[in-house]
Amino acid sequence: MKVRTRAIWQNTIRKYKVTPVKLFEPESLEDIVSIVKEAESKDLKVRAVGSGHSFSDVAVTEEYMVDLFRLIHLDHYNTGVRKEEFRNSKLVECQAGIRLREVNTQLDAMGLALINMGAVDHQKLAGVVSTGTHGTGRDYEAMQGFVQSMVLVSGGGKIYRIEKSNGITDPVKFNEPNIELIQDDDIFYSAVLSFGSMGIIYSLVLEVREAYYLRETKLLTNWEELKKIWLTGSIFTAGDEESAGQSPRGITFMINPYKLKNKKTGKEEFNCAVMRNYYSKKPIKWILKEATRNLVTYIFGNFPVTYWYSLFVYNYLPHRAPLLIRSTINGQNDKKFVHKSYKVLFQGFQFVKERAYSSEFAFDIHDKDLAISAIEKIMEFAKKMQEDAKLYHSSPITVRFVKRSKAFLATEYERDVAYIDVPFVQRTRGTETMLELCQQALFDHGGIPHWGKYNTILDGKPEFLEDIYPGLGKWKAALMKLDPARTFNNRFMERIGLT
Ligand SMILES: Cc1cc2nc3c(=O)[nH]c(=O)nc-3n(C[C@H](O)[C@H](O)[C@H](O)COP(=O)(O)OP(=O)(O)OC[C@H]3O[C@@H](n4cnc5c(N)ncnc54)[C@H](O)[C@@H]3O)c2cc1C
Repeated sequence: MKVRTRAIWQNTIRKYKVTPVKLFEPESLEDIVSIVKEAESKDLKVRAVGSGHSFSDVAVTEEYMVDLFRLIHLDHYNTGVRKEEFRNSKLVECQAGIRLREVNTQLDAMGLALINMGAVDHQKLAGVVSTGTHGTGRDYEAMQGFVQSMVLVSGGGKIYRIEKSNGITDPVKFNEPNIELIQDDDIFYSAVLSFGSMGIIYSLVLEVREAYYLRETKLLTNWEELKKIWLTGSIFTAGDEESAGQSPRGITFMINPYKLKNKKTGKEEFNCAVMRNYYSKKPIKWILKEATRNLVTYIFGNFPVTYWYSLFVYNYLPHRAPLLIRSTINGQNDKKFVHKSYKVLFQGFQFVKERAYSSEFAFDIHDKDLAISAIEKIMEFAKKMQEDAKLYHSSPITVRFVKRSKAFLATEYERDVAYIDVPFVQRTRGTETMLELCQQALFDHGGIPHWGKYNTILDGKPEFLEDIYPGLGKWKAALMKLDPARTFNNRFMERIGLT
């Protein structure tokens, strides 16, 4: 195993930069056990990192850092140890360091696919599961929802295979040496979303499905119209001319926080787009225009030129920011894009997105009024900051939808949610100020912050955690069991009050 000293680690947005005491690159389960034991013998903390895509300090440690990028194997989950009722389930076991991009391509080669995913694919599997990374779709859980089993190296270097009470593995057939099988809902729903605080995940068994195609469409609209279809709920059920009565599978709203004159109608409006995806058949005939994302979008989204251009506009011609956001909304995608599921779910613009960061808050899906008021508060602040301080947003506000989760620390615990995301291009003037205002507006309206996005609103408010997360007591009990010495603690845990 390679161990690096004086290595510099930083997250993708370069907000957190540390030189951990040691940076380990384990190649086996035994390596991970030895790292944990060594840390404990020296009274040091350990934290696994994924790809550093979290905007918060959730992954950060100055002590022992573990990067599992060498552990990337993926295969069917051993049918020999499964309970009879799971014998034919589509289950794959992945080592924790594999990136979503490789998960997708390997599954595709096996005729399989992820049930859902977030907007990009550079994150590591254990990273997205551990923070509850989500995509969009009212009927689809966030990434932790697809996990059926996980191998975790916890305090004292103990190794557990952790599953739900009715877990997939038959305890009689279970035969992994030195690993204890735990089948217990309380432990499973705690450990599966615990941002590295209960140990180092070595592998995850995911439920997947047969490979499928999606069709994505875009509808341009304005905030008043969007509010109507959101409030009536028709957006969730209404299909389009090609959907043959099928409701959209996933929906994303993109909203300009600035009111601008519509060139066609002459009316002032907040321009918006609604992106929907539907299950689709494999096209009989591929039409280039439909099988690729908009070429201009592709070029601008994947090369540095857009980022530098955006930075120039936002910092030196800030009054043009609202217009740039309008173009982003209008031009982001094609009218129709049909492809393999993971290519459609991947929203592109990777280069720019990796230089942007956001705060994202979850709202109960039924609290549409609150979510809408929160967005209108952000619009109000946007106007005020534009007039008073010449500070601007640099991206559209987006809204996505996620199915309820049983994971105790999921923001969508036991309720379906609408997630409101407020991204800013990194290094644009005033971003911190704007993000603080947006966080306050979202929190004041009942939103709960995403763990992996920029969040400071819960600092020093441990009393809120009890209210927001009714399963917190069970989560803390699991933490006590798996990591009694708090070997996997970090500053994030203390800041939030989760220790
Ligand atoms: C461009 C971009 C787009 C994004 N899009 C979305 C989106 O669409 N939806 C969404 O919800 N989020 C999104 N995010 C946020 C991001 O997906 C999450 O924050 C995710 O956790 C990052 O994964 P990572 O592999 O980079 O993990 P890191 O950020 O490195 O780590 C995340 C957490 O996982 C823990 N961890 C990692 N590996 C292990 C392991 N082996 N064992 C135990 N713990 C581990 C770390 O300790 C840390 O607490 C986006 C971020 C970026 C930069």
